[in-house]
Amino acid sequence: MKNIDVVLKEALEYSRKYIDKGNVATYIPELAKVDKNMLGASIVTVEGKRYHIGDCQHEFTMQSISKTIALIYALEHIGSKIVFSKVGMEPSGDPFNSMAKLETKDKYPSNPFINAGAITVAGLIADKYEFEDYLAFTRRLCGRDSIEVDENVYKSESETGMLNRSMAFFMKNNGIIETDVEKTLEFYFKMCSVKVNTDDLSNYASILSYGGVEPKSGIRLIDKEVLIVTKSLMATCGMYDGSGEFAIRVGMPAKSGVGGGIIASAENKMGISVFGPALDVQGNSIGGYHFLEYLSKELGLHYFSGELAQKYRKKVI
Ligand code: GLN
Repeated sequence: MKNIDVVLKEALEYSRKYIDKGNVATYIPELAKVDKNMLGASIVTVEGKRYHIGDCQHEFTMQSISKTIALIYALEHIGSKIVFSKVGMEPSGDPFNSMAKLETKDKYPSNPFINAGAITVAGLIADKYEFEDYLAFTRRLCGRDSIEVDENVYKSESETGMLNRSMAFFMKNNGIIETDVEKTLEFYFKMCSVKVNTDDLSNYASILSYGGVEPKSGIRLIDKEVLIVTKSLMATCGMYDGSGEFAIRVGMPAKSGVGGGIIASAENKMGISVFGPALDVQGNSIGGYHFLEYLSKELGLHYFSGELAQKYRKKVI
């Protein structure tokens, strides 16, 4: 494998060029204030070794990356039977905030990573657990006790998230959400507003890569079966309606958030997190996406990257 520090430097240079083509999320007013030129990344290998570069200490809100932690929490505490009686397992092919499919005959959210699905999962958790319980789990996975909710982003989302609010009421009307809507939304907006940096998220991603076990302690933090479900959904739905092309170009289970973060898990190799607040049209970090593409090609991280496959990819794409 090439020297990781060298590849990180090259990846940063390569992906910077794409920042101009993206824009920060503006529909949550607080997110619009961020400098779009930031870019950073962190890696934790399954041996527990850390590498990082650029704005890796800058804190940003997890946004939709939190949907993976909420799913894990719900599967472990509430169970897959109940969770998947409320949300599907299929990519929606629609934007993350679409409610179009909620009006069809099969009125359930397509998967737990679109907003409608994640709000439903949040409702299931909020019904039985305190947000502090969920936050403690997030802190444990990220390996930092001082992780907190960004109150300004939380307020901003809560005051302006009319689309999420309408989805929640619509699903309550259809019996998909059974918990109080305000309680559900408070939980959802809070989990999206948890503030982290790429060092934190790469700790979490390394656990995803190492079969649910924390590399440095050897402690299992995620159930094996739950991990398989979560990573499969990340591979098929983690980058919204950009998940198919991302699978070809990068080839790792991943999850993005409109705060500019992405986590990616190279099976049995390393957990990666990138941050760049300029987003592409699907709401994925444009710099982060290209950073991961570079890393995947140079370090052979694609899930189908046998030697032959590597050569083939260079010819085609
Ligand atoms: N909090 C954001 C929202 O609900 C999360 C969306 C995202 O990161 N894609 O719109």
